[in-house]
Amino acid sequence: MQTRLVESILKTPRGQEADRILRTCVHCGFCTATCPTYQLLGDELDGPRGRIYQIKMALEGAEVTHHTQQHLDRCLTCLNCETTCPSGVQYHRLLDIGREYVDQQVQRTATERFSRWLLRTLLTRPRIITPLLRIGQFLLPVLPTALAQKVPPKQRLTPYQPQSQARKMLMLAGCVQPAMTPRTNHVTAQVLNQLGIEVIEAPGAGCCGALSHHLSATDEARDFMRRNIDAWQPHLDQGAEAIIITASGCGAMVKEYASVLKDDPHYAAKAQRVTELAKDLSEILSTNDIKRLTVENPKRIAFHPPCTLQHAQQLNGQVESLLEAAGFDLVKINDKHLCCGSAGSCSVLQSNLANQLRDRKLHDLQVDQPEMIVTANIGCQLHLQAGTELPVKHWIELFVPDA
Ligand code: SF4
Ligand code: SF4
Repeated sequence: MQTRLVESILKTPRGQEADRILRTCVHCGFCTATCPTYQLLGDELDGPRGRIYQIKMALEGAEVTHHTQQHLDRCLTCLNCETTCPSGVQYHRLLDIGREYVDQQVQRTATERFSRWLLRTLLTRPRIITPLLRIGQFLLPVLPTALAQKVPPKQRLTPYQPQSQARKMLMLAGCVQPAMTPRTNHVTAQVLNQLGIEVIEAPGAGCCGALSHHLSATDEARDFMRRNIDAWQPHLDQGAEAIIITASGCGAMVKEYASVLKDDPHYAAKAQRVTELAKDLSEILSTNDIKRLTVENPKRIAFHPPCTLQHAQQLNGQVESLLEAAGFDLVKINDKHLCCGSAGSCSVLQSNLANQLRDRKLHDLQVDQPEMIVTANIGCQLHLQAGTELPVKHWIELFVPDA
């Protein structure tokens, strides 16, 4: 597609990147067919091709309004469009640039600014979210249903004694996961210990930066990224082989560190190293002998592949292969490629869309009568669990560590 970006924008690295991406789009519209927001709303402006066009117009100097901002806000960043696109358009990078630019031109309402600030402040800081969650869990029986659905019950952790191992890997603790679903990383550390890998959670590492990044708080996101890099660096220098990430949303973000920090002279090389060593848990387990592990009694399982696993990290089918190799019976799922509606902060900021997508996803997941749903991202896990009585877990919880 031909472009005529405003001269002052084209002089910046982000302007040049946007121009390069825009020129790869041939406007064919294949991506529109697989976009969940287009499917629900039926408006070209709420599909990838329409959003690309709106970003192009904005960067070419056309007036941007609150409507432009809304169409970009409604994007779930599920990246189904990137998987579909035959021309390899890096839509997610263009969207980041477009959203940041539009937010500079159009001031959000006070309510929008407050809710976005509140989300970033609460959810990225375990010291705030953990005590709030404990209060919510205590008051669970008297909370209104809509609020109670968002409060997961406290998880019990079986104590274990980790063995020192020659092979060491870092693991991202994250921000929300240690408070809401601590069993995921607890079981992961035990399972990997059984496979001869010692897991290290570096003090000082925390939120991956994804929430701030997707809410256009780019400086805050980069600070989170630099802090994690600084925390991991000494362990990598001492021989840690990889950085394991159990939440695919965080994994997708950490794998982007090199791209986000490529113009930072102090962090570009370090970020590149982190990106190369970042691995989803399924990538680690698929290179180890999982036959040594004990599993829960084989069950009929529905696996929901998060968009951040199948589209952003392009790890489609990997968890399914592991579960089948471990003896689980995976039920057939229609429209596996579609988003469940969790999509980072969308389940809160775009709750109407998010709930429609969740209902559709839960129908597709339960049609073949599974006994349990498993997934690979805390956001999807909690969002789906809020809409069903069936247990929804992280897939690693199906592996039972030796006592
Ligand atoms: S993003 Fe890809 S699939 Fe969508 S219109 Fe552009 S070239 Fe076609
Ligand atoms: S990221 Fe998902 S919601 Fe956004 S335009 Fe692409 S397919 Fe549609």
